[in-house]
Amino acid sequence: MSLQRIRKGDVVIAVSGVGAGKTGKVLEVLPGRGMAVVEGLNIVKKAVRKSQKNPQGGFLEREAPVRMAKLMLYCPHDKKGVRMARVRDGDTLVRKCKVCGHVFGG
Ligand SMILES: [Zn+2]
Repeated sequence: MSLQRIRKGDVVIAVSGVGAGKTGKVLEVLPGRGMAVVEGLNIVKKAVRKSQKNPQGGFLEREAPVRMAKLMLYCPHDKKGVRMARVRDGDTLVRKCKVCGHVFGG
């Protein structure tokens, strides 16, 4: 497994587990835990205590991290989750879709 397969700002698709088939933007990567926070995926309700900001208290909805093993890069051309290859482009390595050759940002 190569490091940084998925990066902040990537669009990914959940391939298994909670929200399978859903796409979303990566908001945060937690490499040490092998997890990522994806927009709109794995929403959990968090209880909020009454405070000045939240006089009613109640629940706050926010994304909980999901295992990166359950995510794949989403290719806008293939409209599905794809494997990527690392290809040297001059001095840098770029990530390319193995199916159609689309180059992912970063
Ligand atoms: Zn592709």
